[in-house]
Amino acid sequence: MLNLVLFGPPGAGKGTQSQKLIDQYQLIHLSTGDLLRSEIAQGTSLGMEAKKLMDQGVLVPDEVVIGMISNKLDANKDAKGFIFDGFPRTVAQAEALDHLLDTKKSAISAMIALEVNDDELERRLLLRGKDSGRPDDANPEVIRKRIMEYNNKTAPVANFYKTQNKFYSIAGIGAIDEIFASLCSVINQL
Ligand code: AMP
Repeated sequence: MLNLVLFGPPGAGKGTQSQKLIDQYQLIHLSTGDLLRSEIAQGTSLGMEAKKLMDQGVLVPDEVVIGMISNKLDANKDAKGFIFDGFPRTVAQAEALDHLLDTKKSAISAMIALEVNDDELERRLLLRGKDSGRPDDANPEVIRKRIMEYNNKTAPVANFYKTQNKFYSIAGIGAIDEIFASLCSVINQL
C-alpha cells in the first residue's frame, strides 16, 4: 500500500496537490477538514461542535478526527492506499494513525512537506477566502491563529516522521505542475 501524509501549513497547496496525486496513483483522499465541513453541512452534532472551534481557527479534539479517520479506513478496506491531507496535525494523532494502520498490517510510506513561507500563505488564504466560501479563510485574525496552531502543535509532527526516516520536503512555491512533478519524483523513489 502507498500511504502518504501530505504536510504543510494552511494554504500550502495540500488540497490541490492531493487531487492530482489521487488521479496519478489511484489513492483514496482523506482530508479531515473536508470530513468536518461535510459534518457541518449535514448539521450533525459533531459538526456543530467542530464548527465553533474551526471558526476560531483552533484545532478540534484529537479523538474526533481520529474517530473519523478510523471509520474511513474501515470503509475502504480494498484501497490501494491513502493520502492523508490535514491529518495528523498533532503528535497524538500521528501515534494513533500508526496504531490504526498497524492493526491493518499497513504503515505510512512517507510524509511529504510542502514548504511555503508565512507571507505567501497569508496572501494565498486571503485570496482563497474571496471565493472558497470558507469563513475561516476570510478573516485575517483567524488565518493568523491557524498558522499559530500549525507552528505550535502541527510542526512537531515532522519530527515524528523524521525519526522514522519517512520525512521528505519539497518547495511549495512555483507552478502547480512543477510542484506535482517534485512530489512524484519523491514518491517514485519510495
Ligand atoms: P483544513 O481544511 O485542513 O484547513 O482544516 C480546517 C479546520 O478544521 C482546522 O483549522 C481545524 O479547526 C479543523 N481540523 C481539520 N483537520 C484537523 C485535525 N487533523 N485535527 C484537528 N483539527 C482539524
